[in-house]
Formats: sequence, structure tokens, C-alpha cells
Amino acid sequence: MSRYWSRFVHDLEPYVPGEQPKMARLVKLNTNENPFGPSPRALAAIEAANGDDLRLYPDPDASALKAAIGEYYGVPVDQVFVGNGSDEVLAHLFMGFFRQDKPILFPDITYSFYKVYCGLYGIEYQTQPLDDDFSIHLAAYPADNGGIIFPNPNAPTGRPLPLAEIEALLQRNTDSLVVVDEAYVDFGGESAIALVARYPNLLVTQTFSKSRSLAGLRIGFAVGQAPLIDGLERIKNSFNSYPLDRLAIAAGIAAMEDVAWFKQCVDAIVAERDALTAALTARGFEVLPSAANFVFARHAAHQGETLAAGLREQGVIVRHFKRPERIAAFLRITVGTPEQNRALLDALDTLL
Ligand SMILES: *Cc1c(COP(=O)(O)O)cnc(C)c1O
Repeated sequence: MSRYWSRFVHDLEPYVPGEQPKMARLVKLNTNENPFGPSPRALAAIEAANGDDLRLYPDPDASALKAAIGEYYGVPVDQVFVGNGSDEVLAHLFMGFFRQDKPILFPDITYSFYKVYCGLYGIEYQTQPLDDDFSIHLAAYPADNGGIIFPNPNAPTGRPLPLAEIEALLQRNTDSLVVVDEAYVDFGGESAIALVARYPNLLVTQTFSKSRSLAGLRIGFAVGQAPLIDGLERIKNSFNSYPLDRLAIAAGIAAMEDVAWFKQCVDAIVAERDALTAALTARGFEVLPSAANFVFARHAAHQGETLAAGLREQGVIVRHFKRPERIAAFLRITVGTPEQNRALLDALDTLL
């Protein structure tokens, strides 16, 4: 605290990211990073871009990266927006599109950054309860709203929503923006990018941090019809002209083009997720069906907080949320390499 802070800074409630411990040789399964490295072509592109040109500003529009994303999804470049991680893309769209007279809607159990952006930008919100099985119940979202946002698959539950349910929402909710945060969609969800051409109020966000294994570079993007993208550009160009540096742009293009590497890593994670789900179930856990690169699991006889602490003592870090109460029994466990998952299960076996 400082007497030079404004009241505004004093009242902020910042997001608390998962821990990035400095100790070596931890089994780090707490922030949903990809255990397999980035595409070798992305690393080579960074090498190639790492030179005298770094004295020059990058392309403010990152148009070559937008083109690579557009190419991959079969959408025109003017339907693509890029930012410094999808968190920045989300921040821009909250600031620009969600400051409405009516409250925006999102699930009561979801990505906790949404509330933080509402606090930062003075946005009213109402949370909508997940069903008893922890799935998002879009049919119950009231029509009277200033906007709707949810992740698909949801975080931290991992549960996916069928595209048909999202389309049903878009058909009835035509007066406000609907944002689908697809940070984990590549691990088993259906992307709503397929619906963008038909719904002018749909914006889909994605990230290179999870399925493309580039969390350290900070690349995120949004796909939507051109007028929405224009709006995002206006916000971005009122904030930072160069959110993506030359290395990120070069590596992002290469990562998008290296489809074989991407598919191989995603397939390996999906196979490990299924094996981990079976192994946890065999140990008495209830594991929610996950379409993400993590599982959300609770044990009938052990508390989440106790298990997380016991794992930590053995060098295995997972994520535990004390709040809301309804998920306090759960652990969110990132799917790691076979060796990391083995270490997790061994550590659990000493605890259970
Ligand atoms: C990880 C994550 C993001 C942010 O990703 P970055 O691109 O790394 O900023 C956004 N939404 C959800 C639901 C996430 O889990």
C-alpha cells in the first residue's frame, strides 16, 4: 500500500495465477501448461528472428500471424484479432464490449479472471449456477443481459458443451455479445469458430498457451465477424500498438503451420488424460468427464486441501480452489507426461 495509490487501485481484486515455483525438479501439474515442448519449427523461427531486426518495431497488425490463423481455420483475415495472450484479448473485449447497462452473465464456477476484469472495468455481472453434474446450463441463461461469456470446455471442470447448445443460445440471444473462451477446445471440444459466419454477435477466443505449448510467448486470438474485430482493433490501438513482439509473431506462424506436431502432442495428451482418469477412478476418485488437458477430481474419503498439501510435500504441485465451497473437495490436475503422471499416482498411493 502507498499513499500515492488511487482509491481505484486500492479497491482492485487482482487475479492470482497458479504458482510458478522456482525450485527445480518439481512435477508441475498446476497451471495447465503443455508437457510436450513447442514445435521445433517454432523454435527455429525464433532463432531466425533473433537478430538485428529486433531494433525495429514489429508489424503492429501482426498480419502474417493473422493470415496463418485464418488459413488454419478457413476464415478471412479480417475475422481474426491477435493479442498478448488470450487474457489480453479477453481484457480488451470486457473493456470494450461488456460495459453495458445490463449485467453480463457467466457460470458461477468458471475462469476466475472474468470477475477480475469486471472489477477492473466496473462491469456488473450475474453468475449462473452449474448443474448438479457441474455442466453449464445455457438454456437457463436469462435473455435480459449485457453479454454472455463462458469457456468451452469449462475451467476448472473440463466439461465440454455440445456445439448445438451454443447455437441454440445464439439463436435466442441475438441482442448481446456471446463470447466462447476456447482455451482448451483442441483437447476434445467442438470449436464455435464454425458458427462465426452465421452469428454476428459471436466472438471466439483461443490461445497458443495450452495446445500449442507456447505459454511463455503470450499469444492469444479471437475470431468473429469483421465489425467485432474492428471494434477490438480500436481498443487495442488505444492501448498498445505492438502487443506481439517479433519473436512471438514468427514462432506463432510456425506453430500454426506445424499441424503434424500439434496433432501429435494433442493426441498424446488425450491418451494420457484417459489413462489418468482410469487410474484416479481406480483409486477412489470421482473424475468429471474432461475434454481439456486437465482433470477435475475429488476423493470420497480425503479432502482436496489435504491431498494438495500431501502431494506438494512429495514435490507434486496440483491446483486446489478453496472457493466456491462446492468445488473445495476437488483437485485440478494438469495432464503431464507419462512419467509425471506416474509420479503423481505414486505420490497419491502413499497418501491414500
Ligand atoms: C489459460 C486460460 C486463458 C489464458 O490464456 P493465455 O493465452 O495464456 O492468456 C484464458 N481462458 C482460460 C479459460 C484459460 O484457462
